[in-house]
Amino acid sequence: MIGTEREKLVAALSDPEKIWDVIVIGGGATGLGTALDAASRGYQTLLLEQADFAKGTSSRSTKLVHGGVRYLAQGDIGLVREALYERGLLLKNAAHLVKNESFIIPNYEWWGGAFYTIGLTLYDLLAGKLGFGRAKHISKKQVISKLGTIQQKNLYGGVVYHDGQFDDARLAVNLAQTCIEQGATVLNYFKVSNLIKNKEDKITGVVCTDIETGTRYTIKGKTVINATGVFVDNILNMDKPERKPMVKPSQGVHIVLSRSFMPGEDALMIPKTDDGRVLFAVPWHDKLVIGTTDTPIDEHSLEPVALQEEIDFIMRTAAKYLVNAPTRKDVLSVFAGLRPLAAPENGSSKTKEISRSHKLIVSASGLITITGGKWTTYRRMGEDTVDKAIEVGGLVPYPNKTKTLPIHGSKGDVDRNDHLYVYGSDEAALLALGYEKPEWTEKLHPRMPYIKAEVIWGVRHEMARSVEDILARRVRALFLDARAAIDMAPVVADLIAGELHKDAAWKKEQVDSFRNVAKTYLLEPYSPAS
Ligand SMILES: Cc1cc2nc3c(=O)[nH]c(=O)nc-3n(C[C@H](O)[C@H](O)[C@H](O)COP(=O)(O)OP(=O)(O)OC[C@H]3O[C@@H](n4cnc5c(N)ncnc54)[C@H](O)[C@@H]3O)c2cc1C
Repeated sequence: MIGTEREKLVAALSDPEKIWDVIVIGGGATGLGTALDAASRGYQTLLLEQADFAKGTSSRSTKLVHGGVRYLAQGDIGLVREALYERGLLLKNAAHLVKNESFIIPNYEWWGGAFYTIGLTLYDLLAGKLGFGRAKHISKKQVISKLGTIQQKNLYGGVVYHDGQFDDARLAVNLAQTCIEQGATVLNYFKVSNLIKNKEDKITGVVCTDIETGTRYTIKGKTVINATGVFVDNILNMDKPERKPMVKPSQGVHIVLSRSFMPGEDALMIPKTDDGRVLFAVPWHDKLVIGTTDTPIDEHSLEPVALQEEIDFIMRTAAKYLVNAPTRKDVLSVFAGLRPLAAPENGSSKTKEISRSHKLIVSASGLITITGGKWTTYRRMGEDTVDKAIEVGGLVPYPNKTKTLPIHGSKGDVDRNDHLYVYGSDEAALLALGYEKPEWTEKLHPRMPYIKAEVIWGVRHEMARSVEDILARRVRALFLDARAAIDMAPVVADLIAGELHKDAAWKKEQVDSFRNVAKTYLLEPYSPAS
């Protein structure tokens, strides 16, 4: 495996005269997709992420690789076709993380069956050769046999259609590894604090700080790409203060429940809830994720917190469609994420009116900003951005390679009953850590499948630096069962400290700060045993 040790990667910044072809700011889906596109074409590429990969929106999605059924309903055929094409590529290139999931739309109106079957057949046809399976109408009896806990009163039947489902943060980590394998330098915990410009007011690089050591670097680049999601305006303001914001954040919340609320392998899709939103209940790992909301907000943060009314809305809607109404005690985790929607020109505050396609702009200084879009289209966003960088930076043009580039770990025949499947082709090497120390094969928590070797693997090969990096984004404990994650924190801190040679004070600070974050993923207070 290509080295992911931080010291070696940081050493690539030691030559102040080095000029990178492409500097990417932001290590979410968009930045990683852009860095991978650039590195695989052969450009000298550097990516800087202020926190951890996917710490922002990219770990907080509904976990769907989809064309977007609702954009079809809005008539945005081009957007849907593009996303369905990308969905097909991702199933091939990250075969271990993306799976074909069947979704059921229950019909409580007599006309629903025909209406949704026609719409979803069109959805599937738009995918062309990369289709996931035809939509079909099913009887009331079939709906009940697939979704045993669905509300049966006034149920006429349903429609089954297919879409993709994935693990978002794991894909981000695997993308970072693939970037490195393609020759890029990719660093987490590096914050960009300023842009540097020449006499002509053109951008020639960035100033950044290693958050772990406090060391400041001035780095030169032919192009600088702002891929910072809801933070794009912060970087744009470094270029030109007091401009009109480009992004209007919209918050989306999910709750996570035990699978007993909806056992079985199928997902539930409610196309129109009481207030006109779409709601999904999707089996994810061994839990059920239900969401989302769409609430315009003014503030942006790396750790957004669910609003009471968003939680109430999801619980109320779930109770309407599932026979057992979830209570606050049943919620294992609640997480919020911010959509970087492009702000409307006319100042409208209705998020439904804001385009969900991506937006690429070039400032007079040459700063390239890419935002909007969705996880599913990250590869296409990267390709468009690098095409633009070639133009802006006068780079020697090389063709795009990512359509057929396997992402680190990609392996088709994984056993999804074994939770280690997410490691794909790395699984055997991870398990071999048990030979180094047999205790690393022990579980981290009785309620969770994770083993200690995953922590060691995360630190050694996946650039995890903190307890939160492990429990939120290498394994997904924080999102699946926040109380179990809180319990696990001390053991995880011990294991990381052993690898990174950290002391007792570091461990205490790590556990305390993780628990402070984890509290916001719970609806009721929780005190861990130790
Ligand atoms: C609730 C919700 C559900 C969604 N569900 C889906 C779904 O099911 N399927 C789908 O395809 N899409 C989905 N999306 C959309 C998708 O998640 C986003 O489009 C995507 O994750 C955005 O990625 P990004 O890289 O642009 O932003 P982010 O993931 O937020 O990444 C930006 C990064 O920039 C970093 N950064 C900011 N400032 C600096 C700086 N100064 N220096 C260095 N780094 C910096 C941040 O730390 C952050 O990590 C969903 C979005 C939301 C909110």
